[in-house]
Amino acid sequence: MRAAVLYEYGSPLRVEEIELDPPREGEVLVRMVASGVCRSDLHTIKGVHPWALPVVMGHEGAGVVEELGPGVGHVAPGDHVVLSWLPYCGRCRFCSVGRPNLCEDLEWSIAGTMMDGTTRFHRDGRRIHHYNTSSFAERSVVPAQTVIPIDPALPLAEFALMGCAVMTGVGAVLNTARVRPGESVVVVGCGGVGLNVVQGAAIAGARPIVAVDTKAAKLALARELGATHAVDASTGGVEDAVREFSGGGADHVFEAIGQPETIALALALVGRGGQAVLVGLAPPDAGIAIDALTMAFEERVIRGSWYGGCRPAVDFPLLFELYRAGALRLDSLISTCALEDVNDAFAAMEAGEAARSVIVF
Ligand SMILES: [Zn+2]
Ligand SMILES: [Zn+2]
Repeated sequence: MRAAVLYEYGSPLRVEEIELDPPREGEVLVRMVASGVCRSDLHTIKGVHPWALPVVMGHEGAGVVEELGPGVGHVAPGDHVVLSWLPYCGRCRFCSVGRPNLCEDLEWSIAGTMMDGTTRFHRDGRRIHHYNTSSFAERSVVPAQTVIPIDPALPLAEFALMGCAVMTGVGAVLNTARVRPGESVVVVGCGGVGLNVVQGAAIAGARPIVAVDTKAAKLALARELGATHAVDASTGGVEDAVREFSGGGADHVFEAIGQPETIALALALVGRGGQAVLVGLAPPDAGIAIDALTMAFEERVIRGSWYGGCRPAVDFPLLFELYRAGALRLDSLISTCALEDVNDAFAAMEAGEAARSVIVF
């Protein structure tokens, strides 16, 4: 079967034939139907966030269950499923208190293996690592807890985004920030995650919702998805414009890029009693300066949001229901391509093109 494999940081993915072993205990073999192309993959490809190499990339997949390992009972062959990229153990203290996105027992995942420390991918006797769900592959073996069944009537190409961008963006609003109706929201960076922050803010009833980006096409999309104002950051004057729209500073500012400059901008846009929510993944050594005095006397908050505070059993049914109700739109977010086009999809992402590429197998 074919997969897109990273052998060396900074070099293109190689789309090639590799071998896949059957699922073992607690694992599921999924035939991939679609996979979103996410910026986190790009960070790893460039070596900013390193991983065990070689590795089958991709972590935003949806497909059909083909085979179960022992001990898996919540899905059956033929089921349509979304893959939630972040696994969890279900037993550690964070899992136990309902924060499985902070699971502290994932050494195996970080090492690029399955739960037993081995890999299911290989080529000519050489092991190839897993990138969580490794969705840039025609078939992938994944931990059972990442497999979320869906109604087969739902579109898999759109729903691939549920297991990363949608959960991360909408979850940052509803779970992490807990935005209330009428509170002001600013979104810095309107890529796949930022646009879902905009959708989440609209679902929460936020007003105004100010989208900030340097690309006109992304700002247009943000408006379509619920932003009440759009600020083009390529022309300067961002702080003044946002302050005007948000009444002097926002209740919630979401940063969805992960660069020190945009994080600093996000902090500057927070109003009295407000919070900055860091959603974008910064490089490992990136520090930020804060105005500590203002933090205290204006009770400002800076907080991180990891995978939207995802609690799969609670959040995926909600996201699916929001989609059915028309409150969550994914069709305008995606543009489809083939697995062979994966490197072009990353080039388009770097060029700042608006739609999220979704590989359809
Ligand atoms: Zn992602
Ligand atoms: Zn855990």
